[in-house]
Amino acid sequence: MKFLSAIVTFENLHEVRRLCHWGPVIALSVIGICSTMAIFDSIIWYWPLDTTGGSVNFIMLLNWTVLILYNYFNAMFVGPGYIPLDWKPDGQQESQYLQFCRVCQGFKPPRSHHCRKCNRCVMKMDHHCPWINNCCGHQNHAYFTSFLILAPLGCSHAAIIFVMTMYTQLYERISFGWSTVKIDMSAPRRVQPLMPFSVPAFAATLFALGLALGTTIAVGMLFFIQMKVILRNKTSIEAWIEEKAKDRIQYYQTGEEFIFPYDLGGRWENFKQVFTWSGTPRGDGVQWPVHPKCHQHTLTIEQLKQKADKRVRSQVQYRAVEVYNGACCPVSKGLQTFFRTPCTEEPRIPLSKGDTILATRGTKGDPLPLGLELNLEVIGPPNKHPTEPEG
Ligand SMILES: [Zn+2]
Ligand SMILES: [Zn+2]
Repeated sequence: MKFLSAIVTFENLHEVRRLCHWGPVIALSVIGICSTMAIFDSIIWYWPLDTTGGSVNFIMLLNWTVLILYNYFNAMFVGPGYIPLDWKPDGQQESQYLQFCRVCQGFKPPRSHHCRKCNRCVMKMDHHCPWINNCCGHQNHAYFTSFLILAPLGCSHAAIIFVMTMYTQLYERISFGWSTVKIDMSAPRRVQPLMPFSVPAFAATLFALGLALGTTIAVGMLFFIQMKVILRNKTSIEAWIEEKAKDRIQYYQTGEEFIFPYDLGGRWENFKQVFTWSGTPRGDGVQWPVHPKCHQHTLTIEQLKQKADKRVRSQVQYRAVEVYNGACCPVSKGLQTFFRTPCTEEPRIPLSKGDTILATRGTKGDPLPLGLELNLEVIGPPNKHPTEPEG
């Protein structure tokens, strides 16, 4: 099939540098350790390869590793799809409905957002994922989500191998607890195992088991989050925009009815936008099919309204009362601040004593101090507009 014959494609060779980051280094190490240990345990101690079950088990393990790496590298190197620099809509009229990105020197088409890590505007951006050191967006959404389901499945299989290896090696003979199913482990003993199950092998298997179980839980949860995004055809950023839209309509009592434009009405319909047999999602990442009551710019117009609204309300000005150097993990500001290091890799803001900063709304309409952990004193609403950071 076409999607199997396709190999990992590099948009540019320099994309390889994405591997040089803690995210891919840790992720690939975990995949490497779990796969190697599972294959190693299977061959040497658990289930002899000259039995049918042992061979099927071995092939399945290899299969998981190949599929996981295939989807992982495609998520990383195919990437989310970037909006061309200097991009303009076809019609001059349309640009009035779009936000302008000063970094990319172009307009942002619907659903795209600027990623500070990638330093580009990203098609249908969901979030920047440090584990693939790239954004999750339009073009790699299916690869990314496939990886999120395959990794827990592969890790669960590996975890079973680890438990069974330790169990069989410690007790030599295994019973599943019901008398009819028994795996006779006399075969490997007849052919003298390649090496005895030593203490280091036991420790390595136990360590791999911990990694496999941790990965199954953590990545499995991410899979459910991404499936929610796909089945509603609503990215995490768009869910946030929708929440702000409802908040804005309620605040001004405009009586507007906000319909999220990209939910095509059915889960299956939404699913098919992302998952296709060819591996390429539907659409060009610029024009999107929309709900019958909406048009191409329903959401971008809402974003512009929110941007204007942000300037006029719900801002609180704060004054810094102590110096802060902007360190990611500050040691001198107490434990709470240290452990609240932003997981999103968003930078912290260096402050001098007396600096004023503006904070916009939090989730519940409360003002959200940007440096919550710092001692900031409220000095009232702003009297001049700040220069907005690009975001
Ligand atoms: Zn941009
Ligand atoms: Zn990014």
